[in-house]
Amino acid sequence: MERARITVFDTTLRDGEQSPGCSMNVQEKLRLAHQLDRLGVDVIEAGFPIASEGDFAAVQAIAATIRRPIIAALARAYAPDIERAWQALKGAARPRIHVFLATSDIHLQYKLKISRQQCLEQARDSVRLAKSLCADVEFSPEDATRTDHEFLHVVLNAVVEAGATTLNIPDTVGYSMPAEFGELIQSIRQRVRGIEKVVISAHCHNDLGLAVANSLAAIAAGARQVECTINGIGERAGNASMEEIVMAMRVRPDRYPYETGVASEQLFPASQLLSEITGVPVQPNKAVTGRNAFAHEAGIHQDGMLKNPLTYEIMTPHSVGVPDSKLVLGKHSGRHALGLRCEQLGFQFDRRELDEIYRRFVVLADKIKHVEEHHLLELIQQARGVTGRVPTLHADSAAVAGQKRFSKTSAARPTELNITLHSPADHHADQEDYLWGV
Ligand SMILES: [Zn+2]
Repeated sequence: MERARITVFDTTLRDGEQSPGCSMNVQEKLRLAHQLDRLGVDVIEAGFPIASEGDFAAVQAIAATIRRPIIAALARAYAPDIERAWQALKGAARPRIHVFLATSDIHLQYKLKISRQQCLEQARDSVRLAKSLCADVEFSPEDATRTDHEFLHVVLNAVVEAGATTLNIPDTVGYSMPAEFGELIQSIRQRVRGIEKVVISAHCHNDLGLAVANSLAAIAAGARQVECTINGIGERAGNASMEEIVMAMRVRPDRYPYETGVASEQLFPASQLLSEITGVPVQPNKAVTGRNAFAHEAGIHQDGMLKNPLTYEIMTPHSVGVPDSKLVLGKHSGRHALGLRCEQLGFQFDRRELDEIYRRFVVLADKIKHVEEHHLLELIQQARGVTGRVPTLHADSAAVAGQKRFSKTSAARPTELNITLHSPADHHADQEDYLWGV
């Protein structure tokens, strides 16, 4: 069965950039846009041109430089916004105007101070204007998930008739639940006239930690575009994280038989680049791209990983562009990982020697969080004194290889010890240690 293709709409440069501490200048936006292009996203929302001169300039520069993906620009449902967006976009190979207008009663009453009838007319007129400038028009009823369903259908009918080609359904305040959001998408498919000619899109926020779950529920219900950001940055708790949506579909095609154009091995480089540009670090336990996403410390996990990475990894680090899995030497580590680390440093020990080093390692690891290379070398020296034996030094080439691997990774992350897991070393069953269990 052929898998349905999901359009990946990246809004890191627009919604993402609106998050505190994440603003970027034109050059930085261009750098990121190039990486988004390498990543293979289908649409780059490059900015909100009416918002500032900088936003206008960034959209214009990206439209002129990045030619493969669709370049979108945001506009409120007002003529000056739409005209400004078009000015910034018109040099693009594939431009898209993205018009939004709130439709929930709470937004109409308190924010916009307009009636439902005025909202309907404004939505229709602004889409008509956008359509007169650009063939590709996306419309978003802001706060859709808190909008009266009947009224939402009326507005969507009107904008489809006016020429919208994508209907984006935003859970602007991150309020929806997955099943509920799926039902909303389904109701739109059933109730909006001409829906078969337009693409339904999901735009989810993460206020309850459900942005990715809601996006996946929307896809299962028939949405064929997802709006997301690198590292899930965005207003408040952020947007749906692109890396999580893409990898959920890639790891579980049995439940989500969909494809994207994303080159997943570019996900980690994109995450790192964004973090470098904004200075906002990725949370260590962030799914897919966090520092600890492929790190293993618990002894039983490390032992399993050394036997077969599939024991504790559902995707390989390489598949998302992470160089290697990491076995972190800490108090939860076992003998197997410790022995391997010693080997990488050029030392090989028999069982009795390794027992002695391990005993000292456990005492030390209880006091400090990460055992680093120089600690390990000290332990080896001390153990020499006790056992009265000189550890065997590996053949030069092996020692050099071990050192090289270590120094390469230690430069970037001094407290983590990388161990390449793709060629498991000899395993000694009698040296297993499951002191700290699962
Ligand atoms: Zn948003």
